[in-house]
Amino acid sequence: MTQRTAFVTGGTGGIGSAIIRYLASQGHRVATNYRDEAKAEAWRQAMARDGIEAFMVQGDVSDPVACEAMVRALEEKCGPVDILVNNAGITRDTTFHKMTYQQWTDVINTNLNACFNVTRPVIEGMRARKWGRIVQISSINGQKGQYGQANYAAAKAGMHGFTISLAQENAKFGITVNTVSPGYVGTDMVMAVPEEVREKIVAQIPVGRLGKPEEIAHAVAFFTGDQAAWITGANLAINGGHYMGW
Ligand code: NDP
Repeated sequence: MTQRTAFVTGGTGGIGSAIIRYLASQGHRVATNYRDEAKAEAWRQAMARDGIEAFMVQGDVSDPVACEAMVRALEEKCGPVDILVNNAGITRDTTFHKMTYQQWTDVINTNLNACFNVTRPVIEGMRARKWGRIVQISSINGQKGQYGQANYAAAKAGMHGFTISLAQENAKFGITVNTVSPGYVGTDMVMAVPEEVREKIVAQIPVGRLGKPEEIAHAVAFFTGDQAAWITGANLAINGGHYMGW
């Protein structure tokens, strides 16, 4: 397999860490961003203990100016980005009639606008080199909507609109653009949901359990391989059968 440089935003989180580990196990150079120095260093050391050298650049994905600088700093460290996984994300749940503008914009900026902020500085290089893989980590709730998540569902649905437009614009340049839409995975984001709510969620999942971060990483790795060159504009639902819409 050709060694590529893979940049996974939010790589220090539950799903991001699993994606970093999976891509590293395939021989790729792996990189992520961070915001907090101390947290980043602890994460980097944990990766190093497992034999993974992860390059790290500071940057907030919701800030377009910081993202341009972040991508350039990353290129200095480990070369041009071949594989980009737009994974960083947050929730700020509340019903819409109680939602503040801040809760709305925080979620849109971090989940959706981040796709512009991080992809824009890498796309021209991918087009020039005639190879690239871009994967958006969306969500089941972008596909079906969710009570208390108008901000998050709007951002996550928007991410797939981004995917299918970018896929069309860049197909002739050897670049594929796809979306992975996970259902409920047992990371900090979901473990922060009250236990009784989580139990109700699990009861709705035909497979009968939360997903594992590695199961999402496996799908991302599938999309980023050379053999996936004819798959573009797809939205792969990985949710234990929780939502089977088209
Ligand atoms: P985590 O909360 O474990 O990780 C989120 C990551 O995103 C962290 O590394 C966090 O860094 C980073 N991040 C958040 N905001 C920013 C920002 N403004 N700038 C830079 N980095 C930021 O979440 P998960 O691993 O569970 O989720 C990963 C993705 O998967 C998200 O997009 C989420 O919406 C999506 N998803 C998750 C599901 C689940 O069940 N867990 C289900 C469906 C989709 P920091 O430590 O600095 O906060």
